[in-house]
Amino acid sequence: MTLKGGLISVIGAGTMGNGIAHLFAQHGFKVNLVDISQEQLKKAINTITKNLDRQLSKGTITEDVKETTLSNIKTFPVLADGLRESQLVIEAATENTELKLNIFRQIDEAAPADCILATNTSSISITKIAAITKRPGSVIGMHFMNPVPVMKLVEVINGFSTNKEVTDTIVSLSKQLGKTPCVVNDFPGFIANRILMPMINEAIYSLYEGVAGVEEIDTIMKLGMAHPMGPLQLADFIGLDVCLSILNVLHTGFGNPKYAPCPLLINMVAAGKTGIKSSEGFYIYSANTKELVVNKRFA
Ligand code: NAD
Repeated sequence: MTLKGGLISVIGAGTMGNGIAHLFAQHGFKVNLVDISQEQLKKAINTITKNLDRQLSKGTITEDVKETTLSNIKTFPVLADGLRESQLVIEAATENTELKLNIFRQIDEAAPADCILATNTSSISITKIAAITKRPGSVIGMHFMNPVPVMKLVEVINGFSTNKEVTDTIVSLSKQLGKTPCVVNDFPGFIANRILMPMINEAIYSLYEGVAGVEEIDTIMKLGMAHPMGPLQLADFIGLDVCLSILNVLHTGFGNPKYAPCPLLINMVAAGKTGIKSSEGFYIYSANTKELVVNKRFA
């Protein structure tokens, strides 16, 4: 099974969906980008245009590539309309089990019988998602990292029933996109987030317990452990709501209290402070400056 060229549908046009659409479109695929929110679809095209302009100004792409990439992407507010001729669907909607099960029920109805159904979920069971469809062998995890056009890794997750042919197709497709795939098995958080999220949670606990401030925690992990970004900045970047959802999946999935999300994280999400996408998290973000400004609440 090969997917050279062809039509890809991306469900969800948020942080990850716009990056996935950008990546495929730049590699010559036609992309149908689907979101229930027209505003998110508009925002996604603006973000992709801005990111292509950045690549253009760095000289890594030409004006031609920019125009072709943009012309390869079509937007759809209705799920079924964006799926009819797809070879591959990549779901990148909000990290919520019920929502994803509901979306996969609809995708299974609307997508062609031989279409592969992938999810970009950070932590939710691929096996559970697959079981809601009539083609569990064709369901797989294709977990991109943020920002998608830049980060090299694709964590490929085999569900209990995933066919080997489907895994092989996604592995070779990832390579075709210039990425390095790593195949793992389906357990809560897989590998990336099973290891990353407890570290982020511990950083938030350290702040919550007053062991150190935002800047100190992030500086220690950057300079001491050679991380390119501190864990609190990374949490803002990922989205605090996404971090909370993943920790909840780890906590319930393993039944181990070590994964219980820090109350400060729960409170910040309840208050709508979700990091970069809401302009406020452990840091404050404004369009005018790239300088990192610690949220006054934690200063
Ligand atoms: P996000 O909140 O930025 O975007 C989610 C999008 O899904 C929104 O635009 C929303 O309107 C849309 N949506 C919600 N319900 C929908 C529906 N029924 N049909 C179509 N669209 C719908 O979230 P995100 O950060 O892009 O995360 C998306 C997925 O990618 C999640 O599963 C997340 O765990 C995973 N992920 C996130 C990151 C990250 O760094 N943010 C990294 C890797 C994987």
